[in-house]
Amino acid sequence: MEEVTLIEDVFLFLPDRFTEPGAIAFGSSGILAVGEKSAVRMKAGPKPRILSLPGALVLPGFCDAHTHMIWGAQQRTRVDLRSARNRGEITQKIRTWRKENPTLPWILGQWDESAWGGDLPGRDWVDEAAAGKPLFLTRADMHSALVNSRALEIAGIGSATPDPPGGKIVRDPKTGAPTGILLENAMDLVVGKIPPLAREDRVRALRSSFHLAHSCGVTAVHDILYQLSWEDLEIHQAALAQDPEGLKVYMRVPLQHLDRLLSERAELSSRRFALDGVKGFIDGALGSTTAWLEKPYAHDPSHTGITCIENIPEFKESVKRAAQADVSVSLHAIGDAAIGFAQDLYGEIIEQRRGKAPLRIEHFQHPGKKHIEAMGHPRMFASIQPAHILDDASSAEERLGPERAALSYPIKSLLARGCPVVFGSDWDVADLNPLVGLRAAVRRVDKANRFPFGWHREQAIGLAEAIEAYTWAGARAAGIADRVGKLLPGMAADLAVLDRDITSLPSEKITEAKTILTVVAGKMVHRND
Ligand SMILES: [Zn+2]
Repeated sequence: MEEVTLIEDVFLFLPDRFTEPGAIAFGSSGILAVGEKSAVRMKAGPKPRILSLPGALVLPGFCDAHTHMIWGAQQRTRVDLRSARNRGEITQKIRTWRKENPTLPWILGQWDESAWGGDLPGRDWVDEAAAGKPLFLTRADMHSALVNSRALEIAGIGSATPDPPGGKIVRDPKTGAPTGILLENAMDLVVGKIPPLAREDRVRALRSSFHLAHSCGVTAVHDILYQLSWEDLEIHQAALAQDPEGLKVYMRVPLQHLDRLLSERAELSSRRFALDGVKGFIDGALGSTTAWLEKPYAHDPSHTGITCIENIPEFKESVKRAAQADVSVSLHAIGDAAIGFAQDLYGEIIEQRRGKAPLRIEHFQHPGKKHIEAMGHPRMFASIQPAHILDDASSAEERLGPERAALSYPIKSLLARGCPVVFGSDWDVADLNPLVGLRAAVRRVDKANRFPFGWHREQAIGLAEAIEAYTWAGARAAGIADRVGKLLPGMAADLAVLDRDITSLPSEKITEAKTILTVVAGKMVHRND
């Protein structure tokens, strides 16, 4: 008989988007009962494991529709000193990293001296903490690096080493010895000596990223590989295989790998892994003025951004072929021209009745009015990462001007049109914690607090709608909305339990909640209560 767990005295986020007190019983086969406590107890069988979690909130597990797990995992193998405020913190962070990553041969990471007041670091700052391991840290802008004495030794850099063309080895003015700072091309002298991560270290890092997702209540991700080496998929398989239960991964590979996806997707798919989509880029980003706009940038009337598509007829043909084969398509589109391009292409596909899989526009950040009005077909998804609102508000006003900026992240208008909107984090570009995204969608307050009452607040949505976009909508985009994403009997027991009911909190406090329990297929994969 299956083992049944009964969670009582909690609030439940129910499919009608209301929160009610009650209980939930589940096993590995799925949710058995949900609702009023005594009724749920009756259906929980003779000997359930009972957890009483007064005041907690049970949600369907979060489905993050846009992550980069392999990239994020790689970053997690590095030490991040960008927030270190003094030399003591630098030493401490390096020591902690060494303890957590005993098998990694090199200490890699980043620093930013503005965090500690501007003094340029030297190898004497890090030699002791590195304890003989070579260290290579890039400055946040990537134009210089800090290395320790061991790394200089490995690269054969000494007082007599000449500066390479286009680079400079910074030296002590008195002794002429390298200080540990390498500028521009001088970094390459060391970079060439750094070995790639070993396979088992990559697997371990990815697995730790899965656990990070569990700790935030995330039970499924739509993962995106930027550049695919087919080995990345094997790393995923190996990381998933090490835990009996956990995160479900819906993988999207670059569009140019469509043929290989078609030939291998059946073989590579498992209960927790589906190779179910392709991703293509139409444009870049607003911050780097590479978002493709219909009209010029407000701050630069000579420029309308760029499209990344090299060969438009070929690109369209690949997308159509993917759709025809029922492969879900994601197209990165940030500027209005890029969004319009994706919509026209998707419109053709829908009209020609090619396949049934979701057609997604990733980011959908700066559409025009007509692009918002073109949404509403149930197959055309807007995949939005609300946490990006925190960073984008100020620059969007400057780069687009107030009129166009007012239509940015038009989440409320899209939902009103019946457009399926899926939320994700874009980790590790942004925080993996879904509560950060939920708060951003509800408040639309930017990080710089230039818009303390919300940036175009008319597009703010209710928390219940935001939760649905971060749970069930993601299941819908994966084609499993009949089985995953709602607290209903018969649905998969993929759950996130928060320590408090965020639906009754003032919205600025949403991110204060903690995930105390994460359940996948009836098994606890994270517990912290
Ligand atoms: Zn992304």
